[in-house]
Amino acid sequence: MKIGFLKSDGDPRCPVTPKTLKKYGVSVLLETGLSDTVGENYTLGDEVVYTERNEIIGDCDIIFSTTPLRGDEMSAIKQGATLISFYNEFRPGHAVYDEDFPISAFSMDMIPRTTLAQAMDVLSSMASLAGYNAVLLAALRLPRYFPMMMTAAGTIKPSTVLVLGAGVAGLQAIATARRLGARVEAFDVRKAVKEEVESLGAKFVEVEGAVDDKAAGGYAVEQTEEYQRRQKEKIHERVKNADVVIATAQIRGRKAPVLVTREMVEEMKFGSVIIDMASSTGGNCEVTRDKETYIYKGVTIIGDSDLAFHSVIDASELLANNVYNYLSLFIRNGKHVIDMENEIIASSIMYPKSK
Ligand code: NAD
Repeated sequence: MKIGFLKSDGDPRCPVTPKTLKKYGVSVLLETGLSDTVGENYTLGDEVVYTERNEIIGDCDIIFSTTPLRGDEMSAIKQGATLISFYNEFRPGHAVYDEDFPISAFSMDMIPRTTLAQAMDVLSSMASLAGYNAVLLAALRLPRYFPMMMTAAGTIKPSTVLVLGAGVAGLQAIATARRLGARVEAFDVRKAVKEEVESLGAKFVEVEGAVDDKAAGGYAVEQTEEYQRRQKEKIHERVKNADVVIATAQIRGRKAPVLVTREMVEEMKFGSVIIDMASSTGGNCEVTRDKETYIYKGVTIIGDSDLAFHSVIDASELLANNVYNYLSLFIRNGKHVIDMENEIIASSIMYPKSK
């Protein structure tokens, strides 16, 4: 049995480490160049680990790629093979199948967020790195200092960082901004996070009347119009006061909520910075451009949902561990299996749905 790992355009992460490579216990092939970004040259006993892309596609029983393959590549996959990727089914405009391929496909972003699946949760691993990087990026872009500074030339006031959405990325952003000495405020529709926000030394911005849906498994749900109006007023006030806005708010399966309008940006202080980490699903800021940095009326706006990629070595290590934990569910005694009785496998199948 062979497992193959492919390179993905625009994604520098390597989904294998020397440790996971050995742990698979079967033949593993890497597309030539896949590990260049982490400076590793992998070996597995006497076996040649690197090969060309088309060989992996045509010969492996399990193929992993962080982005879905092109149609012509799909039809070249070995019959009965399994393709594991990220189909971003919960993102608007996600990749879909339009042909009947004789393979099975699984998407790692569909893994349920249960305790059992935590070791495979790539979304959380990446969100944590991204939250940290968002703050470092903002600190460098802001033409001000984060902490308070008392010097002979005068006292510099601390900057205020407003974090919108206090999930995995948001909480990491709060902790990082606090460590850098900024004043931090955070807002989330889930009131349950208030305590966590406060325990990190940030102020929780409260808006009364949020709908919490226990059935949504810890995720946010859409809110009433009245709540949205009150929320908008409160955010408007806090955005005007902030030097940095780190926006991480997402609703699974929907476009990201617009929390920062054009009008609010226009009222921000000159030199302020917005890091919109929800840009790939439409953005939390009305004027964000995905994958772009630009200045709008004196405010720097960065739209980037892949900030984890800046820490490519650590991002690769976490990804490789998550991928190993998931892929090992598909290997039993050195053979490729698909156990649809397993809840994690059953919830992450993309194709065929009838399995
Ligand atoms: P996410 O990336 O889907 O969303 C980020 C945050 O945005 C969430 O906290 C959400 O409540 C918030 N948000 C949505 N709409 C908003 C709005 N209009 N205004 C303000 N904030 C808004 O979420 P996530 O970080 O991936 O995780 C969400 C929850 O799931 C957290 O409670 C997290 O602890 C939990 N979780 C559990 C597990 C597990 O048990 N294995 C794994 C990961 C996450």
